[in-house]
Amino acid sequence: MLMEFMCRKIAKVDEKEVFVSRTVTSWVSDCHMVARDKGFWDKKRNVGEMLMLIVSELGEAIEAHRKGNFGLGQKDTFEDELADTAIRLFDLCGGFGIDLEKQMEWKINFNKSREQRHGKAY
Ligand SMILES: [Mg+2]
Repeated sequence: MLMEFMCRKIAKVDEKEVFVSRTVTSWVSDCHMVARDKGFWDKKRNVGEMLMLIVSELGEAIEAHRKGNFGLGQKDTFEDELADTAIRLFDLCGGFGIDLEKQMEWKINFNKSREQRHGKAY
């Protein structure tokens, strides 16, 4: 469901709302441009700090889940914190020129070739 949420955007065509497919690359670009516009890149970024900010969004996600805060189109819900996580990750990739879509395509194909649970207990 998260990937579907991330990869589609509602647009208006002839007064009707339609889903438009978006690429990971377009999300990376959009997330990075918004972050730049909001001043997050006015100073040199620290990769470690950025990674920990992504982790902090996952921490917010587990707290929202523990509180039973769910829902799309609302702030501070489980879904909202997962979106924050993706937005920060995409911004990082945009800022450092990482072709996340290309790497994801490579990795999912690699994962298809791996054994069950990648040879681990879970
Ligand atoms: Mg958040």
